[in-house]
Amino acid sequence: MGYRPADAMAFPRFEGISTFMRLPYVQDLQGVDAAIVGIPFDTGATYRAGARFGPQAVRNGSRLLRPYNPGLKVEIFEHLSVIDYGDLPVVPGFIQESYDKIVEGLEPVHRAGVVPIGVGGDHSIVLAELRAAAAVHGPLGLAHFDSHSDTWDAYWGQRYTHGTPFLRAIEEGLLDPARSIQVGMRGSLYDAGDLQEADRLGLEMIATDELFDLGMDATAERVRRRTGDGPTFVSFDIDFVDPSFAPGTGTPEIAGPSTREVIRLLRGLRGVNAVALDVVEVLPAYDVAEITAMTAANVIFEFLSLLALRRAG
Ligand code: MN
Ligand code: MN
Repeated sequence: MGYRPADAMAFPRFEGISTFMRLPYVQDLQGVDAAIVGIPFDTGATYRAGARFGPQAVRNGSRLLRPYNPGLKVEIFEHLSVIDYGDLPVVPGFIQESYDKIVEGLEPVHRAGVVPIGVGGDHSIVLAELRAAAAVHGPLGLAHFDSHSDTWDAYWGQRYTHGTPFLRAIEEGLLDPARSIQVGMRGSLYDAGDLQEADRLGLEMIATDELFDLGMDATAERVRRRTGDGPTFVSFDIDFVDPSFAPGTGTPEIAGPSTREVIRLLRGLRGVNAVALDVVEVLPAYDVAEITAMTAANVIFEFLSLLALRRAG
């Protein structure tokens, strides 16, 4: 029997030190299938700062989660041994030093055959997460849910921010663009050329208007087809969700999907070969009644359910 959450019938869910879903806090990777890894770095933010407090908020927001997913009909911890690995040490204010520490922290997780689920932190961290994953698995497919493409070249002359990680990742050869797809882009842009960037880079893009035209199931099918069977990174920026459902984030964009639609979309990703996943940009100082933190926690719950189903075969 692997690692599983505390029994809510023995210990009520408001009890205990906060870990994700009240999983054991463990740093030994033996007998582990997936690990929740906090990455509390927010120096890459270009607008509101404060996502460094995301991991602790998401852990608190995860307390109510129960182990069975009725939508996907899976008892997660019958198939999956999961731990809360704690937080990686970062260097606030210093992005390159933090990247090095994140890679150093995540590479052993991949080498142990464990799937890390990163909890940010702003989206700049994904470059380091991708470096660690690609070092072990080679170039990755990408399923990227976000209201922004995060493929801009630079802000104020700086090439490493939360708006640039996927362009850097392609330049570094960490991603296979032919197996990569971005979903959810919307909102105002700097200029008309911003939308051509995905084409130029060879990425597939389903912007929010098309997402609603297609519907959640057909969009999920497109994501599965694009990423195929190869190793894939799933990156979920919480600003993909409409800000009425997830106000606690750094660069909110209106007119996005509801949490109900998001859950439907994620449940359609069954079969994706995710070797790493993350949820980023939760900024609790702007949250209301923990709704953003709970949304992020539920996204991770769906991730765990998908991993469990894949493991169950
Ligand atoms: Mn993003
Ligand atoms: Mn975003």
